[in-house]
Amino acid sequence: MTQNASIQLARMAELGMLGELIRTQLPDVVHAGPSKDTLQRQLSYLIEDGCLITARHEGRYHGVVALDLLDGRVTACYLDPALADATTPRRLMQAAEKRALMFGLRKLECCVRAPALRFMRSIGFELAAAEAAASQAILVTKQLEENAPAWIKDVFALHGQLGIPDDYGARHRLVMVPDARNLDSIGFDVYDREQWLTPEAAKSWRKMHETAVRAGVELQVVSAFRSRKYQAGLIRGKLDKGQTINRILSVSAAPGFSEHHSGRALDLKCPGEPPVEESFARTRAYRWLKANARYFGFQETFPQSNRHGIIWEPWHWCFRPSHSQAS
Ligand SMILES: [Zn+2]
Repeated sequence: MTQNASIQLARMAELGMLGELIRTQLPDVVHAGPSKDTLQRQLSYLIEDGCLITARHEGRYHGVVALDLLDGRVTACYLDPALADATTPRRLMQAAEKRALMFGLRKLECCVRAPALRFMRSIGFELAAAEAAASQAILVTKQLEENAPAWIKDVFALHGQLGIPDDYGARHRLVMVPDARNLDSIGFDVYDREQWLTPEAAKSWRKMHETAVRAGVELQVVSAFRSRKYQAGLIRGKLDKGQTINRILSVSAAPGFSEHHSGRALDLKCPGEPPVEESFARTRAYRWLKANARYFGFQETFPQSNRHGIIWEPWHWCFRPSHSQAS
């Protein structure tokens, strides 16, 4: 008797169990040979990106799907025939498609063997090339864009208008962020513009700001919530001034991919310092944030040499309370 497993993104705590499962059942995931260290490293990358999706029930894995961002491909699937029910593969693949869309992938590919072809067709995949059907591993592909939620379609449209490369999210391992709907004012920034955060982030920001003041540190707001429309306007303005899109994207996030859309991110400065400059990292205010921000749920999300390949942004702090507690 099988139970409906829950579909979820794998967590770091599962690394050991998943490593064992994958080493024995899914050698395809391991590109670089069977070394245990290499496998653990590859798995932790996948988990960090939220690209390893499991079907799990009572501590047992009914199935696993891994998403390879750079190839835009489901790179490995595993199903336990004794545990998985008929809905598991469909639900796992739906989760993979949803996740791929969040990285801005417009289509998803998958290499399957002949017996799985009928199933893949039943969930909307098509043969990538006519002649491929004869070979052992068959490449199938599915367009994701047309069934995407409206806000994701909007992101794709903005990217089309601005000439942002299709692989922007996958290359930077960044997921799309919907615009926050519920926002509280946090007062005025250094340019006298009213700024907004989600109620939870705003409350925590006020506490952090007050605590810093008591420690003799003045934190000033440069920017907080920004909608994707606003972000697109920023980029359009720079394009109009003759900058290339690649140059712009080296300092500004593509619309739809900025943490500022979430209403949880803040750009900060301190008196006497220019806004959004790396020199902020040499200030007492930055050292105070490094030591204390985590107690208020704020994290420096683009530190030096970050895994997103985004420049060091010592001024950028994001409210992620669960992450701060975990680290
Ligand atoms: Zn920022």
